[in-house]
Amino acid sequence: MTLADFPRARLAHTPTPFEPLPNITRQLGGPRVLIKRDDCTGLAMGGNKARHLEFYFGEAIAKNADTVLITGAVQSNFLRMTAAAAAKLGLRCEIQYEDRVSNMKAEYHSSGNVLLNHLFGCKIHTFPGGKDEQAADTALEDLADRVRADGGKPYIIHLSQQHPPIGALGYVDAAREILEQAAQTGTEIDLVVIPSGSALTHVGTLVGLRLLGSTLPVLGICVRRDQKQQAERVLRRADETAELLGKPGIIKSDDVWVSDCVLAPGYGQVNEQTTEAILLAARSEGLLLDPVYSGKTLAGLISLTRDGTIKPDWNVLFVHTGGIPALFGYQSLLAPNSS
Ligand SMILES: *Cc1c(COP(=O)(O)O)cnc(C)c1O
Repeated sequence: MTLADFPRARLAHTPTPFEPLPNITRQLGGPRVLIKRDDCTGLAMGGNKARHLEFYFGEAIAKNADTVLITGAVQSNFLRMTAAAAAKLGLRCEIQYEDRVSNMKAEYHSSGNVLLNHLFGCKIHTFPGGKDEQAADTALEDLADRVRADGGKPYIIHLSQQHPPIGALGYVDAAREILEQAAQTGTEIDLVVIPSGSALTHVGTLVGLRLLGSTLPVLGICVRRDQKQQAERVLRRADETAELLGKPGIIKSDDVWVSDCVLAPGYGQVNEQTTEAILLAARSEGLLLDPVYSGKTLAGLISLTRDGTIKPDWNVLFVHTGGIPALFGYQSLLAPNSS
């Protein structure tokens, strides 16, 4: 199968902009930093999941589903964009909030993505756990059983690794876009820096590049798991993605590069480096980053520049995957004196 053989619903505004970040470049005094603006994919405030969802909704519609179910963190961008896509494409949507990030203020549970979910009119469920992906998926299966009992046709967007990495296909296509934009602008990219959570964005990009014969390195900044666990996940999901596209074995363990240098204290929790990166982007480029993914990713890029891993003469492409609505769920952490 090639990419064109997979059913696809058009949701994302592409190609997204590909631009230099001259002021961040100057302030770092090291690599030349460019940005791929996937926060501008257009669907309900944008983000990487618009590309993933084109293939999930493609499959859901091909299977005649009428209800899409998904699980994630309370401030998950994936839930918000799924609810938006379902509204746009005329399907019902049920989302499940996991209790993944503890000790958050009321705003985390009411503002940002939570507010937007309310506007899209999806049905909301809660799940007490947040660490166990398998258990969250099982709870989703139970909800799907209820949809079926009521005469509906559910389609589940699974979280755990037991299911094919369909969402990665969106980034196989984004890799082509990146290579085309680099060629059009005469830019020789030396490194792509991208967040690595479920890893499908990271994996899709990596597989897409290798399928097109590019050896460009892709560095995943860990946002959920330590680098040992994440490297295993990336390799496994990359193998599966390559297999979906009929090219098993094109990803080698040498292709897998992840760093957990800015992960602590854990998923969805802000640290000093992330706040510094968010303020740098806002104050030098007028660019918004989120505390969970894109802020941590720029923080990782900065940290690895400072320790010499990223070389000063490189052209580095920072992939901005969106997440901006979550800023409003983190108000008191980012601006402690503002309220
Ligand atoms: C989900 C998400 C990510 C992580 O992508 P994965 O494919 O799960 O690794 C990064 N950035 C934003 C804004 C996201 O919503």
